[in-house]
Amino acid sequence: MNAQDDCIFCKIVRGEVPAQKVFEDDDVLAFLDIKPVAPVHVLLIPKKHIASLAQVDKTDAPLLGKMLALAPTLATAQGADDGFRIIVNAGRVGMQEVPHLHIHIIGGPHPLGPMLAR
Ligand code: AMP
Ligand code: ZN
Repeated sequence: MNAQDDCIFCKIVRGEVPAQKVFEDDDVLAFLDIKPVAPVHVLLIPKKHIASLAQVDKTDAPLLGKMLALAPTLATAQGADDGFRIIVNAGRVGMQEVPHLHIHIIGGPHPLGPMLAR
C-alpha cells in the first residue's frame, strides 16, 4: 500500500473525504481546518503526497515557493487582511499530526498572541 492510499489529505484531494475548499489549482488545494484555532484557519497543501517539510528536497522548491506566495492572497480572501501567521509543523518534535505537508494560515481579527507559550 502506498502512503497516499490511506492519507486523509490525499483523500480530500481525491474527493473521497469532504472539505470546505477555498482554493484549488493543478498543484495545490486550500481548505478550512476542521478544528480552527482562530477565526481564519486555512490549510494549504500540495496535491501530490509529500509527507513533511522535513522530507522535501530542492526539487520541491518551486512548489513550496508557490505555496508561500499564495498565502497572503488566501489569508486576505478569508478576511485576514491585517496580518496572519504561517505555521508548518514538521515531524515528531514539530508535533505534526497529519503526515501530508500542509501550511497553516491563521489570522485574526485579533492579534494571535505569542508564537509559542513561554
Ligand atoms: P498538524 O498538527 O500540523 O499536522 O495539523 C493537522 C491539522 O489538520 C489540524 O489542525 C487538524 O484540525 C486538521 N485536520 C485534520 N483532519 C482534517 C480534515 N478532515 N479536514 C480539515 N482539517 C483537518
Ligand atoms: Zn497525502
